[in-house]
Amino acid sequence: MDRKKGILIIVSGFSGSGKGTIMKRLLEEHQEEYALSISATTRAPRPGEVHGREYFFQTEEEFKAMIADQALLEYAQYVGNYYGTPKGYVQEQLSSGRDVILEIEIQGAWKVKEQCPDALLLFVTPPSAEELKKRLIGRGSEEEAVIASRLGRAWQEAQGVEGYDYLVINDDLEECVQNVHSIIQNEHARVSRNLEQIQAIQAGLRCFVKGE
Ligand code: 5GP
Repeated sequence: MDRKKGILIIVSGFSGSGKGTIMKRLLEEHQEEYALSISATTRAPRPGEVHGREYFFQTEEEFKAMIADQALLEYAQYVGNYYGTPKGYVQEQLSSGRDVILEIEIQGAWKVKEQCPDALLLFVTPPSAEELKKRLIGRGSEEEAVIASRLGRAWQEAQGVEGYDYLVINDDLEECVQNVHSIIQNEHARVSRNLEQIQAIQAGLRCFVKGE
């Protein structure tokens, strides 16, 4: 199978859906195949988050300079903060043949899809709305008002899920990681992603049949 060109994968999901944990585990298990894009954000770091690992934490001024320099593939505002995908890393990794994962919200997903129509869109959700609320409260890192606005945002995002390619239900973590990996691997076999190889086979067969 032709693995020369990486697939751009967009993973969205409600805040609290566990998509960050799934991606972390996916990358631990398949380091060679996947690259995770690190976003820039103006949100403050949560306890334990490290600059350059979870995010590039920036001031609003720094973020706006990146927009002006056209250094972002996309950006969006989410619950009062800016979030954006630095362009350079994504392009480098895709051309080196790795699949690149962008863990971004839904507005950013549409912007990337417009520029890269063959991006693969996955949406992660807990099994139910009740479970989502429980996980957000259980995380314990945000105030009640923030949890309420994240639930409000989840309600808005739920209206856009139909535009995604695959729904990933995060009930059992290991199963979910395996499921995401299988979806991506199957995507590599899609006919429209293998046209060069098909044409080479067609040309080879033509030689046999026509004796050229
Ligand atoms: P959190 O503050 O919980 O880390 O992230 C809030 C939301 O912003 C999540 O839905 C996350 O996927 C999204 N997000 C993170 N990075 C980016 C980015 O670069 N662009 C966009 N559009 N959304 C992002």
